[in-house]
Amino acid sequence: MSRRVVVLGTGGTIASRRDERGAAAPTDAVAALLTGLDLGDVEVVARDLLAKDSSALTPADQALIVREVQVALGDPTVVGVVVTHGTDTAEETAYLLDLVHRDERPVVLTGAQRPADAPDADGPGNLTDALRVASDPAARGLGVLVVFDGFVLAARGTRKVHTHEVTAFAQPDSGPLGRVEGGRLVVDGQPAHREHPPVDLAGLASIRVDIAAVYPGVDGTALAAFAAAGARGVVLVATGAGNANPAIVRAVEDLTRAGVVVGLTTRVDAGPVFAGYGGGGGGADLIDAGAVPLGTLRAGQGRILLLALLASYDDAAAVRAAVPTFVG
Ligand code: ASP
Repeated sequence: MSRRVVVLGTGGTIASRRDERGAAAPTDAVAALLTGLDLGDVEVVARDLLAKDSSALTPADQALIVREVQVALGDPTVVGVVVTHGTDTAEETAYLLDLVHRDERPVVLTGAQRPADAPDADGPGNLTDALRVASDPAARGLGVLVVFDGFVLAARGTRKVHTHEVTAFAQPDSGPLGRVEGGRLVVDGQPAHREHPPVDLAGLASIRVDIAAVYPGVDGTALAAFAAAGARGVVLVATGAGNANPAIVRAVEDLTRAGVVVGLTTRVDAGPVFAGYGGGGGGADLIDAGAVPLGTLRAGQGRILLLALLASYDDAAAVRAAVPTFVG
């Protein structure tokens, strides 16, 4: 009996061809991506949602993708869903999908680092692997996955780690869940953590959450400007274990007093943020000033979490309380 998988196309390099400058832009429909693939006994239902570079996606686009995955899973004959997606922000969409995904059936994001017209395009191999994973009973219960270059990664904590190498993604804090080897899925791990807060998809598009960087000499200008522009949340990408300086601590106090939720993450690749340093600008001071440590989440996924929580809760205190305390 064939196994039915829905493939939803959103664009990205996997669907892109290059112009005379050598610059890639999405052109190909899902049906073209599937041409020539060895699908085995998988029956594919293809649907094109968007044709965008993922760096141009909006929260409304991300909400649309989530809704369409839910629609696909509304069909009980579907065993899994694949989303073809640009690599730049796949980690955000994957995590948003995972926040709302309570179904046992796998949802798999994949894409490519090399465009569809490259002689050594990696898209066909990645899509074939993604279809295998989405149709394999061993992937049930693992949540939303990123399948890329033979690696199977849990959505939460997965990050793009290279601008052009085909091994585009990694899970710096807990490693991959498995691999696709010789066309077969080998699972040797479970997602370290998943959370399912209420997510009001309709509200995502109307909420502003920004990201501010910390670096030597930075002051509170960006944080204040984001608040003035109407941000209800800001993710502060701090240094080290989650540290900044006294000017940033004062700005965090101001934003917190104004009801803006400041999430605390770091520019370091792996490990959780923690209140390990004081001195007026350290993580302990930022947290005392109201910043909410985001554990092992980095800026992109931390921002998605704040967006989701801010769309679902009216007041900042409820959002702060709902941020998971998981630290990896
Ligand atoms: N800029 C592209 C995108 O995110 C990169 C890719 O797909 O690999 O859509």
